Amino acid sequence: MADCERSGLAPTGALSVKGFPILARSIPASGSGKQEKPLRILLLGAIHGDELTAAAIVFDWMRWIPTTPAREFDWRVAPVVNPDGLLAPKPRRVNANGVDLNRNFPTPNWERDASHYWRVRTRKNARRFPGHTPLSEPETQWLHAEIERFQPDVIVSVHAPFGVLDFDGPAPKPRRFGRLWFRPLGVYPGSLGNYGGVHKNMPVITIELPNALQMPPPAEVRRIWLDMLKWIGGNVSSKEADASDAAASPEHASLH
Ligand SMILES: [Zn+2]
Repeated sequence: MADCERSGLAPTGALSVKGFPILARSIPASGSGKQEKPLRILLLGAIHGDELTAAAIVFDWMRWIPTTPAREFDWRVAPVVNPDGLLAPKPRRVNANGVDLNRNFPTPNWERDASHYWRVRTRKNARRFPGHTPLSEPETQWLHAEIERFQPDVIVSVHAPFGVLDFDGPAPKPRRFGRLWFRPLGVYPGSLGNYGGVHKNMPVITIELPNALQMPPPAEVRRIWLDMLKWIGGNVSSKEADASDAAASPEHASLH
């Protein structure tokens, strides 16, 4: 908790199933002012509570946001989206209701596909239960509302332990960040990548660290960060800029 206070995190008003506050921090752009409309980045850790490095690396990166090059962007950061899973005596992937939060987002045909996938493809794996309805959980309700409110230009969600980089959405795919190479992990009913990247047409970067309990070396933590920011700066465009382009040019707008 002392770490949380030092980090500038504040309660969002949302509570986990067990009543733990979901904490987040807004860090507005403070760069040279070259960009009129800074890109908005939503950075998320530990939507799966047993991926401890996914929370830890977001705490590390958050300290660097006020410095170049990250300060060019508008940030909203939630290092622990699933506090009940992370703080359980034995950390758990799922939340306190036993729901895999990363299968609980309202992708099209969720009612048909999520349950079928869980029963048939995962053979009712308790670690992958998608819930009874989309957005049934307070943690996913908060994140869904946060996406609507903050309108991120790109979402970064950190996981472990597959040691790869995945991407969904409208931008050229990244090739590698640090030692993490691009490798698609598949599109699942109710996942954030599927919801944001495929359904909402919003770039979603999924970072899969190589180990859920042991952090990458500090140089690699830095390398992933810098490669990611460079890729975002070169490949993601601001929604507001797109919207004003479209308004200025009706024939362009009709292409969307
Ligand atoms: Zn995960």
